[in-house]
Amino acid sequence: MTLRPRPVRVVLLVAALVCAISGILVSGPGADPPPPMKALVQPVPVPGRAVSPVGADPPEPFAGIPFAPIVPIPESLSGIAGALVQPETREWKSIIVHHSASLSGNAAEFDKLHREERGWDMLGYQFVIGNGDGAPAGGVEVGPRWLRQLHGAHAGEEFHNAYGIGICVVGNYMDHEMPEGVYAALRDLTCWLARRYSITPDRILGHSQVRVGGTECPGVRFPLERLRADAAAALRK
Ligand SMILES: [Zn+2]
Repeated sequence: MTLRPRPVRVVLLVAALVCAISGILVSGPGADPPPPMKALVQPVPVPGRAVSPVGADPPEPFAGIPFAPIVPIPESLSGIAGALVQPETREWKSIIVHHSASLSGNAAEFDKLHREERGWDMLGYQFVIGNGDGAPAGGVEVGPRWLRQLHGAHAGEEFHNAYGIGICVVGNYMDHEMPEGVYAALRDLTCWLARRYSITPDRILGHSQVRVGGTECPGVRFPLERLRADAAAALRK
């Protein structure tokens, strides 16, 4: 496997610029300042590219993990721009969407739940989107797993925990439709991540599609197909 060198300087420049413009770095509840992240970049095994036959032409430059260093951040996410753009990053491969299955909530509540009831070391998701009850409707909270570029604890499946970005939308989407303002935040975040990490719509998945043993999450009323269609349109830009 050959990895394409990352344009780290460009990314650092963009991140510095974004921080300078926004003047803030939003962090999730309980998040310490992120440590240096050199050791956090994980190579991803790529099926079918591991071995070249003896005497074969050298492999083509690796193109399986396109990395887009400059993706404009929408106005709706400008408040968390400094947290979104990470200069050293995992090679994210999928986006896994969840609902909280509760009527209210926020990252701090779920962080506490995950620590105290599940015994995890921190909030399992990378992002939480509020629904107006417990957190602003459409407000995006950035968890420490994103700030430190750590694997998730949300998918119930090894690969997607390692390389899937976990987004939890507060609400119960078995029973309720998602409010437009909440959907808009989910759309903007998902589309930005999809463009940034070249995550195609078929890798934007509901929790129920990946969890070993099954789950109802994120609910039959979760607008997953709409989200995929919006991501497809964003990726064509
Ligand atoms: Zn879930």
